[in-house]
Amino acid sequence: MAGTAVRGRLTWQTATVDSVRDETPTVRTIALSVPGWPGHRAGQHVDIRLTADDGYQAERAYSIASAPGEPLAITVERLEDGEVSPYLTGELRAGDLVEVRGPIGGYFVWEAADGGPLLLLAGGSGIVPLRSILRYLAQAGSSVPVRLLYSSRSWDDVIYRSELDGAPDGVSVVYALTRSQPPGWTGYARRVDQPMLAEVAWPAAQMPLAYVCGPTSFVEATAAGLVGLGYPAGRVKTERFGATGQ
Ligand SMILES: Cc1cc2nc3c(=O)[nH]c(=O)nc-3n(C[C@H](O)[C@H](O)[C@H](O)COP(=O)(O)OP(=O)(O)OC[C@H]3O[C@@H](n4cnc5c(N)ncnc54)[C@H](O)[C@@H]3O)c2cc1C
Repeated sequence: MAGTAVRGRLTWQTATVDSVRDETPTVRTIALSVPGWPGHRAGQHVDIRLTADDGYQAERAYSIASAPGEPLAITVERLEDGEVSPYLTGELRAGDLVEVRGPIGGYFVWEAADGGPLLLLAGGSGIVPLRSILRYLAQAGSSVPVRLLYSSRSWDDVIYRSELDGAPDGVSVVYALTRSQPPGWTGYARRVDQPMLAEVAWPAAQMPLAYVCGPTSFVEATAAGLVGLGYPAGRVKTERFGATGQ
């Protein structure tokens, strides 16, 4: 292949920002147009690379928010002291260019053949790849039963709230609001813990498949909790976003 340009999935490509949409005061969905995008599977991610005028480059991983078959979209939470996320959520406009590499990842993915029941556990922006799975299930008219336990700081921090409100039959959504709750809130008002998992999770005897995503501390605590409930470690898939809070 010497002398031949091979464009693989790990080649950086220039993407155009099609649109940006605010999901919450600190979270934005960015739709990207990538010429020749090969398509992706639910749960995969991409790398995004930014280059400053002086040539300085920074790259970060972002889960794919859209379902397979939909145009590429990512959803980014702004960390005030972060390097890349304030730019993506605050400065980027339709028509701007960024570099994209992907799709990446073959482990934290769900395909119809994987079956269920599915237990989805999200902390903060950890909902992003799980949203891709949920959209994929809805598109496919899947009858796989799903339980989503989604931990956010407050009701205003819940990402994709209206979409989750309209989740199809067979998908039950349970929220845990860790820092503040709206008046009259009757749901969970604490971090995900073992008693909560025991109440919400499918019994291990049903051999559910779990996807856990969010800040590293959230993922480690909840995945260990599921194993404590009898889930085989091989049925608990995890994706860690790093040291970000939720
Ligand atoms: C597979 C994967 C998928 C991801 N998907 C998403 C997604 O869908 N949405 C999303 O919003 N994020 C996602 N992330 C996280 C994302 O990659 C970035 O880490 C995030 O956006 C923060 O980047 P930043 O440049 O803004 O912050 P950074 O500058 O990288 O800083 C991150 C945090 O670390 C702290 N920090 C930085 N440097 C230091 C230091 N030297 N010492 C101590 N603390 C420090 C900062 O204070 C900040 O709070 C994903 C990560 C992975 C690995």
